Formats: sequence, C-alpha cells, structure tokens
Amino acid sequence: MKQLVLSFFLIFAFACSNNSNKMNGTNSKPDSLNQIIEKENKLPEIEMYTEMNFTDDSLVELIRLDSSFLVNLPYASDSNFTKTKLYPCNKCVIRYKVALALIKANNLLKEKGVKLKMLDCYRPLSVQRKMWEVYPNAVYVADPNSGQASMHNRGVAVDVTLVDMSGNELDMGTPFDYFGKEAWPTYRNFSAEILANRDLLSNTMDMAGFRHSNSEWWHFSLRGVFFPIEDTPLPCENK
Ligand SMILES: [Zn+2]
Repeated sequence: MKQLVLSFFLIFAFACSNNSNKMNGTNSKPDSLNQIIEKENKLPEIEMYTEMNFTDDSLVELIRLDSSFLVNLPYASDSNFTKTKLYPCNKCVIRYKVALALIKANNLLKEKGVKLKMLDCYRPLSVQRKMWEVYPNAVYVADPNSGQASMHNRGVAVDVTLVDMSGNELDMGTPFDYFGKEAWPTYRNFSAEILANRDLLSNTMDMAGFRHSNSEWWHFSLRGVFFPIEDTPLPCENK
C-alpha cells in the first residue's frame, strides 16, 4: 500500500512538473503575463549619465547624477499659486556646479535620516514671464524684465524642503509658496520642532555653499556663481 501511494505521488509530481515545464516553455501566454507583472512591479528606470565631462555651467538633470533626491515640482502640475501647469514635465534641471553642492547637502542630511525634496530648480525665462503675469510682486516673484530676472532662470537657485527616508515632508511651519511673513527665515514664532527643521535645512544648505532667501524658507542659491539667463526648455522628451 505504501508503495502504491508513493508511485501515485511520483506520477502526480511528474504530471505537475510536466505541466509547469509547458507553462515556462514554448507556451507564450503565461510567460507574457509574468513579464507584464514583472514590469508593473519595476520602478521606472533612470538612465544615469555615463559620460561625466560636464563643465560648471552644464545644465544637468539632478537625479541622473544621484537618484536619491525626491523630485516633485508643483509647477509641473496646476497645484501651485498660479493654478496653471507651467512645466511640461517633472524634471529638476540645474547647473552642474550647483548639482554637486546639492549632492553634498543631501549626503549631510542623509546622515541625519532625512533628505532633500526638490520643489523647483532651473526655470526657463519664458516660464518666469508667465509667473510674473499672474503674480507681479517683486518680493516673491522676480521681475523677468528687470535684467536680473530670477536666480532660477540662471540655473543657480533651488526651492527645497526636507523629507524623511519614506518621503514624508517635515513640518516647516508654512507650505511652499506661502506669501507672508511666516515664510521668512527670520520669523521664529513656531514650535521648537518646526524651528529645528528649518535650522537643519538652512544650516546644511549653508555648509554646502548656499545663500538663503530673506523671504522664503525654501529658496537657496549657490554663493559665488553667476551664470547667464537661459530659456532652454526642460528635456521632457528624454525618459
Ligand atoms: Zn525659489
């Protein structure tokens, strides 16, 4: 009886294995289903730069140098103060020299269990014009006709906040693009936690070589560099 059960089991096991060979073999339907599932579970691939012969002024896509940054630009959707989608895609482009300083800041922050979330980077001059049409207030939006324009138009300024390693934003007291004195870095009427978050961001960016804006806790520009105003569109055709 024992032998009969064993041989029955062996026949059954062979039948199953034969069936599974069929599923993984020439029969393409189950295979293509597996491929679809595999693709859906994969994160979008970012092609990293292979040639690193950039000059300080090269406009580069930040996450192609270091994929650990979180990039979520409100101007790439209509969830911003203009209520208009200003960028055709969500890409943080910046001068190579600025990118290296951002990587330095991000590495310092990662030691403390947080990292940078990019809210705005290089901004083409034509986008600055659109922004000025909606909000012509030079305290918060640089006048595109002033000759100076914005440091974003020169690719040397970024808007950033802090997130934990799961991507949750730390409390900075006001949202991004809050137009009021509570957004000033000198405004200190906040809880100790908010002040600590702001100080961590500000001090780390300072260590990495950035100057802080007087009116926006999120805005920083790299010290000692001055590149020309650009109107090159974002490279949205690249994946
Ligand atoms: Zn800014």
